[in-house]
Amino acid sequence: MSEIADNLKRIREKMEEAARSCGRTADDVALLAVSKTFPIDAIAEAVSFGQHQFGESRVQEAEPKVRALPQLEWHLVGHLQSNKSRLAAELFDVIHSVDSVKLAARLNDACLVLDKHLSILLQVDLGQEATKFGADPENIMETVSAVSRLPGLRLDGLMTIPPYFEDAEKARPYFRRLRQLRDALETEMPGCLGGRELSMGMSHDYAVAIQEGATIIRIGTAIFGERHRD
Ligand SMILES: *Cc1c(COP(=O)(O)O)cnc(C)c1O
Repeated sequence: MSEIADNLKRIREKMEEAARSCGRTADDVALLAVSKTFPIDAIAEAVSFGQHQFGESRVQEAEPKVRALPQLEWHLVGHLQSNKSRLAAELFDVIHSVDSVKLAARLNDACLVLDKHLSILLQVDLGQEATKFGADPENIMETVSAVSRLPGLRLDGLMTIPPYFEDAEKARPYFRRLRQLRDALETEMPGCLGGRELSMGMSHDYAVAIQEGATIIRIGTAIFGERHRD
């Protein structure tokens, strides 16, 4: 078996194990293969081993991949500049990195032109680091309320990238906080979220994220190997 096939098999087993450890099932967790920096050949190989959902972090890098393999489901996980929102709205099925009302409004405009209903997640900055992207959790109610009124978008849930910790357990409070935020939004603003997605967990901490309720894990290195750039 190829290395990618081996890796996918191992991750699916670990997903099962993590889900079982907290009374969930791995069927409730989507595995998003983050293929940034890797060529179409690597993606095609993952497809041949049953992988259908892929994540990219740059719109321009993703474009030829999406156009070559349009039958796959494509997610944008990296920061999106508003001047690329039109192309992003066209290429992607889900955008995880919406972090402001302004960006959401740009995507909404693009969707109205494209006659497309786009699934988005609101990226929340729980790390409170000035360098990180993401909406401020302090005024998330206002942000969600404004974004959920845009007719071209469906706000399906939340996404976060915690600070990097060698010890994955240290990321647990961030994952838990994202789940609590979603639960609070559902209680206090019924109907504002169109789905229950929690996009959280990467190669080194996805087991912990699953235990805290992740519904989408974003895995790059553990499937495709080390990258030479982000
Ligand atoms: C690159 C990237 C990932 C995948 O990271 P790995 O550690 O390689 O699994 C996940 N999410 C986002 C937002 C990324 O940019």
